[in-house]
Amino acid sequence: MVRADSPFLATHVAGMLSRTRDRVISLVPGSSKAPLEVWLQDELQLYRFKRGSYEHADGFWAEEAGRIHLRTEARHLERTLVHELVHSSLSDAWSVLPGTLEEGVCDWVSTHICPHSAAQLRAGRLSAACFGLGSLEIEVELRSASPGGPAEVLASYASILLEGGIDPSISPIEVFQLEAGRSNSGLSGPRKKALYGLAFFLIDRIASSESGLESLYELCVRAKAQELPVVPTDWLLEAADLEGLEPAQWKPGLAEAFSGAELAELVAMYPDFLGSAIDRLPVPTSGASGSEELRFAMRVNPR
Ligand SMILES: [Zn+2]
Repeated sequence: MVRADSPFLATHVAGMLSRTRDRVISLVPGSSKAPLEVWLQDELQLYRFKRGSYEHADGFWAEEAGRIHLRTEARHLERTLVHELVHSSLSDAWSVLPGTLEEGVCDWVSTHICPHSAAQLRAGRLSAACFGLGSLEIEVELRSASPGGPAEVLASYASILLEGGIDPSISPIEVFQLEAGRSNSGLSGPRKKALYGLAFFLIDRIASSESGLESLYELCVRAKAQELPVVPTDWLLEAADLEGLEPAQWKPGLAEAFSGAELAELVAMYPDFLGSAIDRLPVPTSGASGSEELRFAMRVNPR
């Protein structure tokens, strides 16, 4: 069932598979266990002699072959396995999800089954979504420590603008139209990542209640029953509590989606910005009250 050059790795991944598969089925309504194989490869390829367009991927699901391919060196092997397991388990009802949204479902499930790397995946997806819509502004505020009281704001904030280099920027409608998950999508790496990010943002909003993916699945079933080719965009926007398709209608929600855990990941992803922001802020003079400590506050703003 699991094929790898190293027997140790094969056993390791077989263990992951048995740990995670039932959890995928329980988190995804209308999913089932199809027979499948998992192949670990140093370089991802579907057939032995075919060089595919998988150089930026850590895994893919080959439906016709019933096979998950994983890159041996993938940074998060279990998370990648879970992502591909979701693709492999979705029933036909899910096929009416438009554009890139299935990728968002796979990522959403991964963050729940692999909590140790969830903040890192969320931060990566959400920042990519911000880059897709324009840029990401990180505001840093410096505070003095005031003994016994709330931290006192010392200075106005410094803000750093991170550009994702996506030009022209992405319009939210594209996440419903473009299938960024296809290996032949023809999209550049950064555009693809941004679409995955926007899809994750949308699914995360829809699935945020206790019933998880249930309401999204119901929309798929309803669209199928009405013989619609895809779930209408309006239904999805309503389920995600988004008012429309203007970037300005998505950006406040994106900013709110970053919690402390994702902000910490951003510092790890872009360590230089913190130093350059602090360079521009006045620090308390020695001897002044609270000068023995510096406190930071940060937040993000999609721009
Ligand atoms: Zn995928």
